[in-house]
Amino acid sequence: MSTARYAVFGHPISHSLSPRIHSAFAHQLGIALEYTAIDAAPVDFATALERFAGEGGRGANVTLPLKEAAFALCARTSDRARRAGAVNTLTRNDGQWHGDNTDGAGLVRDLTSRQGLDLRARRALLLGAGGAARGVAPALLDAGIAELVIVNRSPERADALADALGEPERAHSRYWQDMRDLGDFELIVNATSAGRGDGNGFSAPLSLVNSRTLAVDVNYGEAAIDFLAWARAAGCHDVVDGLGMLVEQAAEAFEHWHGVRPQTDAVYAALRERDPVLVTAD
Ligand code: NDP
Repeated sequence: MSTARYAVFGHPISHSLSPRIHSAFAHQLGIALEYTAIDAAPVDFATALERFAGEGGRGANVTLPLKEAAFALCARTSDRARRAGAVNTLTRNDGQWHGDNTDGAGLVRDLTSRQGLDLRARRALLLGAGGAARGVAPALLDAGIAELVIVNRSPERADALADALGEPERAHSRYWQDMRDLGDFELIVNATSAGRGDGNGFSAPLSLVNSRTLAVDVNYGEAAIDFLAWARAAGCHDVVDGLGMLVEQAAEAFEHWHGVRPQTDAVYAALRERDPVLVTAD
């Protein structure tokens, strides 16, 4: 029998850590698989995914900027993918793609289990309304945050995310340029890809921060430097990057495909050694 094929699709994708993470999980559990990274521009994604299925692809992860497109290509989707309107995990069943979203569960597991943080009753600010923000927003609400305020560079995407969440009392959108008037937050999540850009730095009003604020960047490595530097300078109590989320969302996808949950600590520690950027949960 040929080796089971899995892949991560994105654009760009060459620096993805997913092949390394899934291969480590497979090695740990004695499962034979091949997991590769496939670069697909948005216009080519549907064709590339069909080709992968035709070549025996059984499952795929999907990353920036393809998660909303992946959702549209699924014949069936999980509850949490529908609430997100975005898919990061595809499974081939009966000649069709089934979609799930493990980003939110991965973030919450990292923050609560690994970092030992309590998210309940926190007033939360979510920066961004793309695929990652759509994945984490429902999970933050389920984790018991008090309120979710969403701001995005393009305000209509923040409005659409708030509408999709369907909890107008608890989750609503505001304009990015009005951040100064939003008060302070116990949780600030950066789910934008701004840190991958031109290196102009991240700036936001210091009035967003209080003595308990947990600042989380879903990015890691260089893409997280600007936001986390701002969070430290602003005096946030805890500052966490997205490396743990990356490992936990992968573990969730791995369990979905293979029916067994891998241990994540050793894989996380190995990646953290390579990428020691910024993580301090006190
Ligand atoms: P998308 O392309 O779907 O969305 C990008 C988001 O970033 C949009 O909200 C966009 O705003 C915003 N944005 C981009 N540039 C800027 C800027 N210069 N200033 C302000 N906002 C900006 O990407 P994803 O949501 O899929 O991914 C976002 C980031 O999260 C990526 O860097 C990705 O690597 C990371 N990520 C990490 C994960 C992990 O496991 N740790 C999991 C998922 C994602 P607009 O709508 O106006 O364009």
